[in-house]
Amino acid sequence: MNAAVLPARLARGRLLGTGGLGNNAPAPKLNLVLGHPGTCPAEPTLTICIFDDSGSMLGGADSTGERYTEAGIVFDRISRSCRCDREKAAILHMNRPTSADRAPLALNRRARSDFAGALTVPTDGDGASTMGATLEKALQIARAHPSHRTALLCFSDFELTDTPARLAADLAAFPGDVHAVVMRSEPPQELLNQEAITITRIAAGAAPGAVARALFHTLTIHRPGAAANARNRTSS
Ligand SMILES: [Zn+2]
Repeated sequence: MNAAVLPARLARGRLLGTGGLGNNAPAPKLNLVLGHPGTCPAEPTLTICIFDDSGSMLGGADSTGERYTEAGIVFDRISRSCRCDREKAAILHMNRPTSADRAPLALNRRARSDFAGALTVPTDGDGASTMGATLEKALQIARAHPSHRTALLCFSDFELTDTPARLAADLAAFPGDVHAVVMRSEPPQELLNQEAITITRIAAGAAPGAVARALFHTLTIHRPGAAANARNRTSS
């Protein structure tokens, strides 16, 4: 069933622009239309984000150069709408641990500055094009939170040194919703073959908002009444 959703998701990835923003719109004033964030879930949730900071990403796959700006806007939006301590998020950068990684923190107002400091290219990152070790860390975090409904979101061009079939299988086996956001490149066939993985492709030159909407979708996937959930139900 998920396989049938893929083409729509891919198309949606390309269509995730916001009207009225010219190419020269200043980044800090991105006017992103994200929809309703919904309400706090009754059960504890955990979203783990993996960011690829390898040379191919910094050199062009993040075609708008604004992925962290957009991610910051989304984290801020959700954290301001959260009234509980049950929604957690963690941020991991590839490949080895960095100062911009964050263990699971409650995604509410108190952690806003913590998340803001994590949504950047780490100054001490190794820039490796390898996801495997970071995925293993995400798995450990998920296993340490067995009572949480978990989602994993990976931002990468998937031009990686990992064995493609192995990486795709490991992603698909992750205990929770898995969303691969493929920036610039065509999604690897090994990824497309895994029905358990939701894929959004963000093409080169995509209008501002594509990264934000992909992140918003996953951060609100367990929030009742969220716009992303409503869209999901009607399209699948
Ligand atoms: Zn909440």
